Amino acid sequence: MQGSRRRFFQQSGLLTAATLSFPGVVRSKAEAAADAPPHRIIHLVADGTSSGTWTLGDYFSRLKRGRGLRWFDLLQRPGAVWTWMNMRSLNSSVTDSAAASSAWGSGSRVMNGVLNQLPDGRELRPLYSVMAEAGWKRGLVTTTEITHATPAGFAAVTASRSNAEVIAAQYLAGRVEVLLGGGRKYFDPKTRKDQRDLAGDFARAGYAVVNDAADLAQAPLDKPLLGTFASGHLPYTLDQLGDAEFQAKVPTLAQMTARALRYLERSDRFILQVEGGRVDHAAHANDIAAAVQDLVAFDEALEVCLDFQRRAPETLLVVTTDHGTANPGLNGSGSEYGSSSQLFANTLRVRRSFERMEPDFKKLASAAELRAFLKTWTDFEPSAAKADLLLRIAEKKAGVLYDGMNAVELQLGQLMANFLGVGFTGGAHTADFVPLVACGPGAERFRGFLQNTDVFRGYLTLAGIDFRNPDAPLLAEAGPRADQVEALPRWA
Ligand SMILES: [Zn+2]
Repeated sequence: MQGSRRRFFQQSGLLTAATLSFPGVVRSKAEAAADAPPHRIIHLVADGTSSGTWTLGDYFSRLKRGRGLRWFDLLQRPGAVWTWMNMRSLNSSVTDSAAASSAWGSGSRVMNGVLNQLPDGRELRPLYSVMAEAGWKRGLVTTTEITHATPAGFAAVTASRSNAEVIAAQYLAGRVEVLLGGGRKYFDPKTRKDQRDLAGDFARAGYAVVNDAADLAQAPLDKPLLGTFASGHLPYTLDQLGDAEFQAKVPTLAQMTARALRYLERSDRFILQVEGGRVDHAAHANDIAAAVQDLVAFDEALEVCLDFQRRAPETLLVVTTDHGTANPGLNGSGSEYGSSSQLFANTLRVRRSFERMEPDFKKLASAAELRAFLKTWTDFEPSAAKADLLLRIAEKKAGVLYDGMNAVELQLGQLMANFLGVGFTGGAHTADFVPLVACGPGAERFRGFLQNTDVFRGYLTLAGIDFRNPDAPLLAEAGPRADQVEALPRWA
């Protein structure tokens, strides 16, 4: 693969020379930019999005906005590269977000749960540290806590992704210029275990520190920026819709992305990671309405980036996900599957996420109350028998057949499948290879089947930086090897 890429670059160099020497050929600004290495890189991640989630996001976007996801439009663009990527971690074919982002962020696979550290304790240098040294400005934007695994994988080094206070302090030590998301509690002396006034330290280091959408809009453009808009994760898009109070406090992913770009574009070179982080959380909960609303919000952030790229064609966009989560799919329903689309259209009628319903859900005492409650927030009124069964599962008086789905929200997801048509494989991440689209200068670097670790090498090569982290051999997973499978018992 490396060899064929080198050949490509040699070939494209020859083609460029030929084009340039051919009289009468006028090259557009975009064509000229496509041959030069990118000065700006935007890495967009819709966290936990298997192919079914993208598909349903596109269907939902058509219902909600009358058009599909921009993500799929990208595939039509001349010069766009579309491929698949293996996201496995050091210890498992099923990755978590820490190992996934570390692979992009260090070029080495690590154990699940770890950020940029090998099992023997050796620390890896993260992408943002390497690029800062070469003069690149850096930004992280997410709908999760800003210290969460996906943003942290580009800028932090720690043995456990749960060390959020350490990660927050590392952002300041590494002077990541733009940080926008949730997770205020990790910057606040009242909620940090070490009582450090980290937000104050950011301010003293010259950052504009903001806490709500209005302040973000007015923050000075010439200062690095720390914005935390919730104590924990930002609320789901579904829960913000029609809620003016939420909207005044919490900017959308698109608004945060636009603001990050306004600061970063003042510099000649920058890299920005944009994460739609809660698509993953909704999929974990088997809450398809929350997942597709957040995926459309992610797509609006992608649109901001595409507008930026039109103005600044030296920008490389890479759009991907870090793993599948619970793999939702629209099941065939009804005669000749004729009911599936109708059922899925019911996602538009859902007005609350499972997460926001949960506190009230826990107080429900009878099947009748549960039926009325669901009718209020989702427009679905299940049968008395099904409502009763869900309550008994919640009270641990009844079990479920697949242990991987033994949780109330997953069973609520199963119940809602009768109304929305969407089923799930479980409540965890999956081993799916993930799609990746690259467009803009350097996109060719991402052609062919990728390993997650290729992304780090791709970005550094395009930035002209010669650096490599150490790596460790893959750990064997528990279970039979392929050559032992024949010996397994089979049904007669
Ligand atoms: Zn997850």
